[in-house]
Amino acid sequence: MTDIFIKNALVMTCEPNVISGRIIENGAVAVSGGKIIAIGKTDVLESEYGNADRVIDASGRIVMPGFIITHTHMPYVMGHNQPVDFSQLRSFWDMLQKMGWEWLEDLITQDGIYAATRYAAAKMLKSGTTTVCELVEAPNDMNGALDASVRAVTEIGIRANLGYEVTERIPGVPINERLDPGMAEKGFEENLRLIEKFPAGSGGLVVPRLGVHTAYTNSPATLKKAREIADKYRCGIQIHIAEIPRAFLVEKYGKSAPMLLEETGLLDLDVVAAHCIDINDEDLNILARNGVNVAHTPMTNSLGGNGVARVPEMMEAGINVTLGHDCFFSLDTAEYIRYTYLIHKAHNANPALMPPFVPLDFALGNAAKALGMEQSIGSLAEGKKADILIIKPDCPTPVNPATVMSFFTMTFLGKDVETVLVDGKVVVEGGELKTADEEQVMRDCVKQSALLWERNNG
Ligand SMILES: [Zn+2]
Repeated sequence: MTDIFIKNALVMTCEPNVISGRIIENGAVAVSGGKIIAIGKTDVLESEYGNADRVIDASGRIVMPGFIITHTHMPYVMGHNQPVDFSQLRSFWDMLQKMGWEWLEDLITQDGIYAATRYAAAKMLKSGTTTVCELVEAPNDMNGALDASVRAVTEIGIRANLGYEVTERIPGVPINERLDPGMAEKGFEENLRLIEKFPAGSGGLVVPRLGVHTAYTNSPATLKKAREIADKYRCGIQIHIAEIPRAFLVEKYGKSAPMLLEETGLLDLDVVAAHCIDINDEDLNILARNGVNVAHTPMTNSLGGNGVARVPEMMEAGINVTLGHDCFFSLDTAEYIRYTYLIHKAHNANPALMPPFVPLDFALGNAAKALGMEQSIGSLAEGKKADILIIKPDCPTPVNPATVMSFFTMTFLGKDVETVLVDGKVVVEGGELKTADEEQVMRDCVKQSALLWERNNG
């Protein structure tokens, strides 16, 4: 029995990648048991699948796989527009220590995580992101923090890799003064609870991914332990690399972050490394030879004045580049696709860099591969999970096989996403969230944000 038959659409399979995938006019996709069971021309498939429980006429729409964002901190939405003294932010260090830690992470509670994650997940789903890789921090309310995330993402219905950020940083103590391996131990415990609850291959919406903060907030012993856990449980690792000036690590350790991490054995094919901005040729080779996946986060890198990651060179070196964001700005993937499309042309004074299909691959097949989920998500193919978008282009020119890729970098906005399926279940329909009352979700988040700001001022 067919659950859903989507017909008469411009179908982009993006399989095996965006540029080589099929673009099918008057295309159709059949879904059953949460999986894609057929893709092809509507007139060919209709006789077999046209009697589905639900038939969606997607005339004038694009049908494509859901986007995948490989680096998020959903509770960071509570920091949006926080009225703080910006004159205190003169360097990325200031931003990390004050805006990131003091004014936000150290004040986050589990009630805040739950409300903010529901809000962020809802906004992301509505704008076409069906999978996120989420890193949670709440050093002053850590025990059980991931349970709040699990509840939020499963209620809203987004697919998520989840991990708690292991760090030896002590809230309120400068990292140059003292680190505490005991803090990292508690972080490991929080990750392990989730890892044991959702073993590798269990197949649901929640997939644990061990979180590690950085090379400079953890001792080599902690980094080695992270690798041991990732190997034992096959859960992969998410970490920040080279988001701060390279000189900081070289001064302190005589080595860059990639060098330190390679020495500890942490780097491997199962690592998703956010940022990777200030890296030299040797660092770039280390990332490439260890098969590290990069989560490119251009908007927060711009905010912090960190510079522009060497993405075109990473791609040349064979590094798998994906798209992430820190939930610091809009939660609309369209904005990150467009910013990625433009910033490397501007930075390198070369309009030939970044053809439209490249940033799309970052948020589709490359991202699926980075999360070790390329067999199940990232493209439309028979047997894959039915994580599907139906997009109604709001566009001044014809959208057809010749123009559709440019549409995504030139015109597309998340509000064009009309219907979203995750695991074959309709979670967004007519642009409306179906899994929760969105107004209530927003009110709850605003309430928690106000409480967090009060704690900041208190
Ligand atoms: Zn981050």
